[in-house]
Amino acid sequence: MPDFMTVAQRRMTMSRVRRSNTSLEQQVAKLLSTAGVQFRQNARDLPGTPDFVLEVAPVVIFAHGCFWHGHHCRRGRPPATGVDAKDRYWEAKLRANQARDRRISRRVRCLGYSVLTIWACDVANVRRHRTLLSRVTAACGRKIKT
Ligand SMILES: [Zn+2]
Repeated sequence: MPDFMTVAQRRMTMSRVRRSNTSLEQQVAKLLSTAGVQFRQNARDLPGTPDFVLEVAPVVIFAHGCFWHGHHCRRGRPPATGVDAKDRYWEAKLRANQARDRRISRRVRCLGYSVLTIWACDVANVRRHRTLLSRVTAACGRKIKT
């Protein structure tokens, strides 16, 4: 799909995306609380300041917007790439974000944590919440020593 937006329109859309990312974290927090999962938010003591660190097991959760973090879904599809500077700018920016995410995940794993990514498209779809939570409990289960 071609990127039909002008730079100004794109910028406006992005600012909206960023704002909704804040509420994405709130939605995930609510989801976890409802399931009785205890956590702390914005762990500045860990690489990349994970959005959530669970109390029951060394599991961290990143809540990611699909566009910014390049999810393989409809929302995460990057703008069409072409030869002009605007296209190259977006391609480079989104790739840099993904590379950063991978680097951060690796560093957090090295400290003994499991890393889960929760995507905005899954949070937006109520029917996927059960699957989301089972991924969370599965990650905890693997980490809890019995
Ligand atoms: Zn997605």
